[in-house]
Amino acid sequence: MNIGQEILLQLKDEITEVEYNRYVKQLTYDAKKSTSDIAIFYVPNALISNWIKNKFTSKLEHLFELKTSNKVIVNIGLKNSFNKTKIKTQEIKKTTTHSLLNPSHTFNNFMIGGSNQFAYAAVKSVSEKPGETYNPLFIYGGVGLGKTHLMQAAGNVLQNQGKNVIYTTSEQFLNDFLRHVRNQTMEKFKEKYRECDALLIDDIQFLSNKETIQEEFFHTFEALKTTGKQIILTADKHPKKIGGLEKRLQSRFEHGLVADIQPPELETKIAIIENKCKINKVNLSKDIINYIATVIESNVREIEGILSKLHAYSQLIHVDIDLEFTKNVLKDQIQENRANLTLNNITKFVAKDLNIKPSEIRSKGRSKNIVYVRRICIYLCRELTQNTMPQLAQYFGMKDHTAISHTLKKINSLIKNDEDFKVKIEELTNKIKSNS
Ligand code: ADP
Ligand code: MG
Repeated sequence: MNIGQEILLQLKDEITEVEYNRYVKQLTYDAKKSTSDIAIFYVPNALISNWIKNKFTSKLEHLFELKTSNKVIVNIGLKNSFNKTKIKTQEIKKTTTHSLLNPSHTFNNFMIGGSNQFAYAAVKSVSEKPGETYNPLFIYGGVGLGKTHLMQAAGNVLQNQGKNVIYTTSEQFLNDFLRHVRNQTMEKFKEKYRECDALLIDDIQFLSNKETIQEEFFHTFEALKTTGKQIILTADKHPKKIGGLEKRLQSRFEHGLVADIQPPELETKIAIIENKCKINKVNLSKDIINYIATVIESNVREIEGILSKLHAYSQLIHVDIDLEFTKNVLKDQIQENRANLTLNNITKFVAKDLNIKPSEIRSKGRSKNIVYVRRICIYLCRELTQNTMPQLAQYFGMKDHTAISHTLKKINSLIKNDEDFKVKIEELTNKIKSNS
């Protein structure tokens, strides 16, 4: 797989399936013509080209930069008519890691509610008195709940004061480390990370079970901490719950302040949508905003995807966005919280369709067929209801949410790799929906 394909896969994780299938999937990377400064992609027509340019170029550039530590310009060209002279090489500026902070991730743009006010207050305080209040500050929570945004908001404040801020993901930190080991320039690596005023490392759970980099990180951490430099870390779980983490690191992570972010409540979601509309100059009525906030469970990134899709569609087909239009556009994506879509009903339905007893699905039975059907059932319950993973674990008599998460991963990978299985799941989903 070339780097362009890798970046597209990363982008896929951050956008909706429809956006991916309809637009991003059409991009092809030109590995031959691309250089370390310019990434060239082709698309089949101007419509898609415009759409990608508006929505994704800066995101792609950001991902390239994260991966290569190099400022990369992304060029989108039409197949067959790409004109090489369009590339303005002089525009390319080498920059440091600083530019990796997204300037729109500010405290002002972050909507506060019960779900995130603790984390917000902690990050705000750290940005006002770096190295003095909570060090390290450890923020954890689910996907798309604003961890990166908050962390970078602090980074932006400090950077605007002229401080040397390093923002990086733990994956990038690891790659940087490996590169320096390869080039025998470890001194430079040490210097770079130990001379900053604030070190922000995102998604630290990625270091789990990677002993060498944990060791290196431990020393960086100690060096920064003793000189009073601020460290902010994020992860998807509490430090205690990240498996494969050295004990001494875990205890260091807990030593400052550990703050969680929970899924946003309805009011917070409404505030977030209103704010996004204002920023993107999209006009949505109150009932549409309420509708989107109710339908989307928690992931704020998903909300953003929906807003841009609504906007793009309305521009493409020149209609105003009303509630009907919204419902239509979101039809494929939303999981309507229908009264009849309960765990019991779904389990009964799956049992009948796949010819086993509902009680077997919920039993501890380990026979191959029972496990197979149970997995499908859990997957459908997760897709079609608003139940949380702990709730599902309780209903299906499993140990805890990690067992559910493991199951979902298994099914997702089957869906990805096995077309027949995918069709079967789609059919089941539709049958359940139309029967409830
Ligand atoms: P995480 O790092 O937790 O996965 P991000 O920080 O990347 O999540 O957030 C996903 C998107 O949602 C970002 O574009 C971010 O700006 C936005 N977002 C999340 N929470 C909020 C909030 N409370 N107010 C405004 N935007 C938010
Ligand atoms: Mg993040």
